[in-house]
Amino acid sequence: MATVSERDVLEALAEVIDPDRRQGVVGLGMIEGVEVKDGHVAFAIQVPADEAAAKEPVRKACEKAVYGVPGVLSVTAVLTAHRPAARSAPAGDAPNAAAGVGLPGVGSIVAVASGKGGVGKSTVAVNLALGLATEGKRVGILDCDVYGPSIPRMMGIDGRPTAPEGGRLLPMENHGLVCMSMGFLVAEDTPMIWRGPMVMSALEQLMRDVEWGELDVMVCDLPPGTGDAQLTMAQRVPLTGAVVVSTPQDVALADVRRACAMFEKVDVPVFGFVENMSWFRCPHCGERTEIFGHGGARREAERLGVDFLGEIPLAPRIRETSDSGTPLIAAEPSGTEAAVFEDIAARVAVKIEEALAAAEASAPRIVIQ
Ligand code: ADP
Repeated sequence: MATVSERDVLEALAEVIDPDRRQGVVGLGMIEGVEVKDGHVAFAIQVPADEAAAKEPVRKACEKAVYGVPGVLSVTAVLTAHRPAARSAPAGDAPNAAAGVGLPGVGSIVAVASGKGGVGKSTVAVNLALGLATEGKRVGILDCDVYGPSIPRMMGIDGRPTAPEGGRLLPMENHGLVCMSMGFLVAEDTPMIWRGPMVMSALEQLMRDVEWGELDVMVCDLPPGTGDAQLTMAQRVPLTGAVVVSTPQDVALADVRRACAMFEKVDVPVFGFVENMSWFRCPHCGERTEIFGHGGARREAERLGVDFLGEIPLAPRIRETSDSGTPLIAAEPSGTEAAVFEDIAARVAVKIEEALAAAEASAPRIVIQ
């Protein structure tokens, strides 16, 4: 099979003309961050912020042109726009812009994070969102895990989002929540090979170019880990606070400390820790068994002076329900395990109120005399 190079991709793109400016997209400097890996191609097309919808045909033409290159297996092109100067990203580890920037119509944004994958972060994110909705809040979920989006599967949503003529993308909906994920836009087997800046632009589109409507809370399922991508997100997404999920073992707890430090660095309040897979009820004798050094997250929370939000048992129903597209709270709202998630959601709701009140109190006031 032919090996595809960045040059092949750029040569194919050189044929694509931006109809408004009547010049090639490559010559106009619109193509950024071309990544090629084993025949899978990804790149960004830089457009003015207010022209994103109008440039969709250009994006499609670019994808089509690259598909024509022998050896290309998949093409992912995203439209990106530089932020207006007044909202440019802060340099270095600057504080998160929480109270200031925000998303119009969205009252608060809560990140669910974990030091590593597989600890149940997405499971907690969906059940937290459902728990907040049970309290009467209008809730959305943004799946920020662009590398391995699992929210569509957990929420039992497939299909593609649509946009009304000239309008913004409509979020998908199920179990009373609105939801957006890269998983709706890109085929599941398409590997995500983007560099950090592309991930950020894709994420900003998922946040800002979607018709979220009025929401009390947006729950963001962050990618696992505490690398550069997560730090940038913690800094650029206007977060009200963060919930950190961990399993009880020591190794996982070291990751928790890193996650906590990451949020501190960018001034995002850590609402607290959740210990997942904390204990186990034996399906035969009904006895509670404690596993993996249960209680570690609570002790770590105390040590770091962070709140402990709750412990979730390792329960087959939690896995079965979230893996089958009807998360536990939606499937068994009156079950004992659902109550655990609801308690956590209630604690988080209080934390959101406190954080919003604190942000309000510290906001500069204009006094007219
Ligand atoms: P992460 O987002 O941290 O990678 P997930 O939420 O995708 O983790 O969970 C990983 C797997 O573990 C999923 O199959 C999920 O259903 C299962 N799982 C998560 N929490 C529990 C739990 N408390 N009990 C049983 N299975 C769980």
